[in-house]
Amino acid sequence: MEKQRGHVIVLTYPAQGHINPLLQFAKRLASKGLKATLATTHYTINSIQSTTVGIEPISDGYDEGGFKQAPSLEVYLESFKTVGSRTLAELILKFSESTSPVNCIVYDLLVPWAVDVARQFNIYAAVFMTNSASVCSLYWHIDRGNLSFPVKPETLPLLVPGLPPLDLSELPSFLAQPGNHSAYLAIIMEKFGCLEENDWVFCNSFEELESELVKAMSGLWPFVMIGPMVPSAYLDQQIDGDTTYGASLWNPTTECLIWLEAKPANSVIYISFGSMADIQPKQLEEIAWGLKNSGKHFLWVAKEPEKRLPNEFLNSIGETGLVIPWCDQLEVLGNQAVGCFVTHCGWNSTLEGLSLGVPMVGLPQWSDQPANAKFMEVRGVGVRAKRNEEGIVTRENLEMSIKEVMDGGKSGEIRRNALKWRETAKKAVSIDGSSDKNINEFVEKLVKGEG
Ligand code: UDP
Repeated sequence: MEKQRGHVIVLTYPAQGHINPLLQFAKRLASKGLKATLATTHYTINSIQSTTVGIEPISDGYDEGGFKQAPSLEVYLESFKTVGSRTLAELILKFSESTSPVNCIVYDLLVPWAVDVARQFNIYAAVFMTNSASVCSLYWHIDRGNLSFPVKPETLPLLVPGLPPLDLSELPSFLAQPGNHSAYLAIIMEKFGCLEENDWVFCNSFEELESELVKAMSGLWPFVMIGPMVPSAYLDQQIDGDTTYGASLWNPTTECLIWLEAKPANSVIYISFGSMADIQPKQLEEIAWGLKNSGKHFLWVAKEPEKRLPNEFLNSIGETGLVIPWCDQLEVLGNQAVGCFVTHCGWNSTLEGLSLGVPMVGLPQWSDQPANAKFMEVRGVGVRAKRNEEGIVTRENLEMSIKEVMDGGKSGEIRRNALKWRETAKKAVSIDGSSDKNINEFVEKLVKGEG
């Protein structure tokens, strides 16, 4: 029986912002001749489709309801580690007798135990960072003892090689408020303490986007930039077989695309806070009136609007706006009508905004988002909305930021910068672009069996 070399299992954490880039990476590998299988939890598997990548389930111990059924994040992560390690090993064994045995696991930073499974089978291991390299460099410096943690007020603003000076409000929340979500920080720091045990460390970014950081870290760390992991069709390429992410944990509303079609170019605000952020009622109210007062058309992704948004606002929208529970974000960002993306600056959303050339207003919430918002502003593709002393972006501040990006004196320059980054992102993923070359090197080594 002739065995095919180069079968990669890509293991994702079961959240939208993780499935999207990892599935996309699997598709990119498949397009380059590798066999690629995405491993995900039972609870998420039915939300994922691909014509080029195999999709296989493993268990996190919560097959019926996923993460929400676990009593706490800590319990969930522990269960995923125990049950996930066992079921991932079973999946590898299943393929071992086939014509395409697995010879590499690419795993999400949030499932760090996958490296032990790879070692157990003596196959390659590659960790996939769903954060920017800039954010990763903060964790790396803390691990190496170059930055004190918890952050000392007298060291602010932080001066980190290759990054702009960073205030506390511009750091990932795991570092700025280390008490919150400490289980995530623990996982991240554990992995940064042993990056060398991986054969590859991939980062969903591109060298040109973070060029100063790449220069500052050159020779110091093993990061390989392979992004942006956005379906190539949105970057005017035809690299991947599928033209969408092919994964949606919620049903996208399609009427918004028809609604957008009738609107003039660059006239609509698209606003979304991704899949995980929990926006407080007071902040939601300010956003609602900020959008309304801007006088622009807006398309807002908000779950349970009747329960969570002011009635007076919902009754006053009329034809001006549309509030929907979920959409195909790339289709929306790619629509000619959208002229501004009010975003929580999740890393995928930030990359998508850059890749589609849409100016942004950042309203970061938690995790790496505050840092992403800062870097987005530094790159001149938008502004961060200012918060008041209570940490709220008031309606006036949101309106001001929207106007700055869409109509203000700097709006032309912001739009030009956004389009410039779109072109740069396109180059990075096109044939022989920086990210494409990096992926090719990986594929070649895998097929030849070198590591
Ligand atoms: N997304 C989507 N439809 C929506 C909102 C978001 O398809 O209505 C997608 C978006 O394209 C992105 C992902 O969900 O790929 C969210 O990832 P991100 O890192 O931006 O934020 P997270 O959800 O992890 O906070």
